[in-house]
Amino acid sequence: MRTVYLDNNATTQPAPEVIEAMLPFFTELWGNPSSMHVFGGQVRRHVELARAQVAALIGADPSEILFTSCGTESDNMAIRGAVEAANAPVNVITSRVEHPAVLEPCRMLKERGVPVIELEVNGKGQIRLDDLRLALSRGRAVVSLMWANNETGVIFPMAEATELVKAAGGIMHTDAVQAAGKLPIDVRRLPVDLLSLSGHKLHAPKGIGVLFIRRGTRIRPLLLGGHQENGKRGGTENVPYIVGLGRACELAARALGDETTRVAALRDRLQAGILAACPDVRVNGDEVQRLPNTLNISFQYIEGESILYHLSDCGIAASSGSACTSGSLEPSHVIRAMGVPFMAAHGSIRFSLSRYNTAADIEYVLENLPPIIKKLRAISPFAAL
Ligand code: PLP
Repeated sequence: MRTVYLDNNATTQPAPEVIEAMLPFFTELWGNPSSMHVFGGQVRRHVELARAQVAALIGADPSEILFTSCGTESDNMAIRGAVEAANAPVNVITSRVEHPAVLEPCRMLKERGVPVIELEVNGKGQIRLDDLRLALSRGRAVVSLMWANNETGVIFPMAEATELVKAAGGIMHTDAVQAAGKLPIDVRRLPVDLLSLSGHKLHAPKGIGVLFIRRGTRIRPLLLGGHQENGKRGGTENVPYIVGLGRACELAARALGDETTRVAALRDRLQAGILAACPDVRVNGDEVQRLPNTLNISFQYIEGESILYHLSDCGIAASSGSACTSGSLEPSHVIRAMGVPFMAAHGSIRFSLSRYNTAADIEYVLENLPPIIKKLRAISPFAAL
């Protein structure tokens, strides 16, 4: 059966070049980078090369790149580490539509007495800068706002938000896990203090992440142990994965531009094809300020999960905006925060593309999806209402 993978915001296929770069670090180059002998020295050079490759993707200095185990760790370290390092009481400002890797540490801090403000979003999934201004007027803040949303692809106004935060004397963190490799990122121009990345969203393997820490930013380590990563994160470095991430960043930098434009055209073809073939659908999220690879679309009167099962039978992988919790199908917190009406929220599907997708993939989806929608609507108790 033909397979088409359109769930790249969940995880991406590791690039063959990345795997190739990693392999020697499981066989002949297995030393500990902290060791003073030749085994360590050989490996250390490659860790530092990877650090420079990651830094180049975002315009950072290599000394500002800290390797972590995943995007979740980077987000936790940024938020908890910045709050704990502040000498005075601070507020935390975030948004309602962040990934749980940001929302959960914020909620933990709230339980410990730190005032936490979650900014609302409008119907397009956008924050309002006036809300941020107001929140900042309440005192010094650690702010965590995602660059791009994993479910809708909505891009927050990062330059404007960062300017407001810095003007108010706050610390600015952005979860750029979904933005990296899809949008140009340059921390020389954008004065964020902290920025999270995750390897498996940009064709490196799962289990490797990065926290960019701008020089001079005070942050308390999350993992206490050895002196690795400049004393900021204990734990022997995951050398093969670090090397793989470095190579993935190099490939991602090259793919920005022409490849991103090609992927955006495929996504637009998918959106136009669905809108033309299926009645009662709506695109969720800002269609202009949106990642080039993401389409979140609601099919009225049917459950997202039913669509996914049928797509899966045809070899097509996408994901739904709902999470199946204790037998009830709850729409995701992102879709709910946008105020998407109940019926549409339950039928939301996310298609997320990568540079490995082709025009033939999209045509295959457009052949198979409309009949599935028609069939499910024919048996939906809501469609007849
Ligand atoms: N932040 C965002 C926006 C994400 O989409 C994800 C993963 O889905 C994460 C953080 C967590 O990254 P990781 O899976 O590497 O922990």
